[in-house]
Amino acid sequence: MIRRIDLREAGRDAASVDYRSAVPRAEFDAEAATHVVQPILDEVRARGADAVRDYTDKLDGVWVDDLRVPADALSAALADLDPAVRAALDESVRRLRATCAAELEADVVTDLATGARVTHRKVPVQRVGLYVPGGLAPLVSSVLMNVVPAQTAGVSSIALASPPQEEFGGSVHPTILAACALLGVEEVYAVGGAQAIAMFAYGLPATADTERVERVDLVTGPGNIYVATAKRLLRGQVGIDSEAGPTEIAILADDTADPAYVAADLISQAEHDPLAASVLVTDSPALADDVEAELDKQVAATKHVERIHTSLTGTQSGIVLVRDLEQGLAVVDAYAAEHLEIHTRDAASYAARVRNAGAIFVGPHTPVSLGDYCAGSNHVLPTAGCACHSSGLSVRAFTKSVHVVEYSREGLAEVADHVVTLAEAEDLPGHGAAVRVRFQD
Ligand code: NAD
Repeated sequence: MIRRIDLREAGRDAASVDYRSAVPRAEFDAEAATHVVQPILDEVRARGADAVRDYTDKLDGVWVDDLRVPADALSAALADLDPAVRAALDESVRRLRATCAAELEADVVTDLATGARVTHRKVPVQRVGLYVPGGLAPLVSSVLMNVVPAQTAGVSSIALASPPQEEFGGSVHPTILAACALLGVEEVYAVGGAQAIAMFAYGLPATADTERVERVDLVTGPGNIYVATAKRLLRGQVGIDSEAGPTEIAILADDTADPAYVAADLISQAEHDPLAASVLVTDSPALADDVEAELDKQVAATKHVERIHTSLTGTQSGIVLVRDLEQGLAVVDAYAAEHLEIHTRDAASYAARVRNAGAIFVGPHTPVSLGDYCAGSNHVLPTAGCACHSSGLSVRAFTKSVHVVEYSREGLAEVADHVVTLAEAEDLPGHGAAVRVRFQD
């Protein structure tokens, strides 16, 4: 059912080969979704809360009068939370907080000469809008993955949005509300998709029946193709973490891999979205056959058979045959997967050589689903090849840096002639004069 791509002869005689275009990709991508998303952004900008309600009605099938979830709904959801789920969330938060605290970066002070200091100061972003998916599955774990690094960074104003659920009276899924309450997030909106990203980027003016929603400085969080496209189109108007769209897994495996593990991990990714991508890259045709047999067996036994089948048989998924692991490494690096698992002999040494991946999962006992929930790493990761230039969500995404420059008269005197020389070289004599004026006496 899953297609095969044979790259064993590719680039055999060439110095380099473009594997990026040879590996599977979704046909429906952010570019194709632009014509759907741009009108949503334009309408929300022009008509505010009325447009958000209209799109929510049309796309989520719910009419929501109060976009903001009331405080008592948050506390009630936490009170009703299943104790086992609460214990799992607590453990996930504990691990995330530990890695986030360790990632906090201190200011860097450089004294270049007497009276010549440059400080690289870290400053948290002031107000952020966090997106938590809720279309096909209520991703409560995404609450933690967004909120914990934001809080650790010191963000003072946090708003969160997630799609309204018809079965919960048009409010956000109660487990998501409980996680918000657990972490002390009070500003929660029952809004999903591109309209939520537009609401955060533009803000919503107050009307007779709606409180004002203040615009945010940064939007983070994963979502489907419409959410990822909205982030792409609004970048600049608002900061974004990365394009964390429909999920992807690449698995680099040799003949030591366990086909049952490999198949289960391909399936767990496909379970997210019909557009999710599951790609196995292997130098072992026997493993490819065994994984395919396992897929046939395991898919039939899963709950979301239709979604998984669509994802695994789509153009974005496949088994890629390579002649050896060196070629496999080049292929997965070019693919730049959101998640990369390595099931090979000496997996850590291959992991150390990977440049492009959102996160790398090393060895047979580090499945992506561990990282989705409880590894202590973040699961909001760049997709669609963006891992070659973007990083997963972390404390760093919620901070920016400012250079603070402080020179004394003595410090300026030491470098003044160089400033004047460079100003004249650029034909900007006023720049040089701004230095000379300080030494005229
Ligand atoms: P979602 O909340 O992202 O999207 C649901 C919203 O999409 C709805 O509220 C609706 O407004 C909008 N929508 C649905 N159909 C639409 C259409 N035809 N036109 C315009 N808007 C439409 O939830 P989801 O759909 O379940 O998707 C979650 C996604 O998040 C999955 O693709 C999953 O792979 C991804 N994800 C990514 C990461 C990552 O870090 N990259 C992590 C977790 C999840």
